[in-house]
Amino acid sequence: MNMNRGEFYKRVLPIFRPECLRNKNAIVVGVGSGGGRVATELGRLGVGLILIDLPGEVLEEHNILRHELGYPSLGKLKTEELAKHIHRLNPETAIECISLDVVAHKREFRDIVEAWKPELVLACTDNEPSRHLLSEVGVQRHVCVIGAAAYTGGIGGEVWISRPGAPCYGCITAHQQKSDTRPKTQSTIDYTDLDLPELRSTCALNLDIAQIALIQTRVALNFLLNGQVDLLGLPEKANLIVFANRRLAGHFERPLQAETFHIPRQSDCLTCGNHSPEEIDLEAERILQNVKQR
Ligand SMILES: [Zn+2]
Repeated sequence: MNMNRGEFYKRVLPIFRPECLRNKNAIVVGVGSGGGRVATELGRLGVGLILIDLPGEVLEEHNILRHELGYPSLGKLKTEELAKHIHRLNPETAIECISLDVVAHKREFRDIVEAWKPELVLACTDNEPSRHLLSEVGVQRHVCVIGAAAYTGGIGGEVWISRPGAPCYGCITAHQQKSDTRPKTQSTIDYTDLDLPELRSTCALNLDIAQIALIQTRVALNFLLNGQVDLLGLPEKANLIVFANRRLAGHFERPLQAETFHIPRQSDCLTCGNHSPEEIDLEAERILQNVKQR
């Protein structure tokens, strides 16, 4: 379909020049409920996308209530169906779909980052090993990684930013475990008996996840616009945003409350500190083993 760009972009022109997004690429890893929305919002504005999800990751009926895609995509690959969906919104957006388990095939993922040289990697997966891996590759390849997660029950969520030269996701999450930035409602659930990622993804409404995904998208778009316009006003070094979807006594005192944090680097971090690549690989292996055992 031929686009009339002037007409298409008419309503955003007063805010920013859309052509500055056209030559920028973002890798979106995980195109579920959150990632699908992030990709759609960036894609409709013309940001080039590399959509990555697990091999055989198809849309299932229980996904539909919380996904950009609907019944016509049932049983089909989420990445490819999402690309079609985005092309219906902006036929000019460049989109590549890749089936890859980034944790199992770390080297292939590194090669993809090396080949595409994206401005951004968006971590939209639902598990800790992949978040650590994406952040680690971002550190190694000097690419900004922005991730998000909704908290259990959809009470709120967080968006984290690992910029080149700044603390990695490992530093951010280690600091959170020691401090009070993350609500501890999970302590009421016996996790020894449950599949944690499954639980996280089952207990939230679409609007809960979308709220956090749109904050992630805003942070991403702001990064891509590179100062042309500030859509956020985030303090320069802020690397964690915690957002309350609703009030929760003891954690979120106000509804729709946002807090920003500047989490410092962990002094002994092997991922983003000054260490050799061999030390970094060993540490990554150690973290992954710990996460799996938990
Ligand atoms: Zn670190």
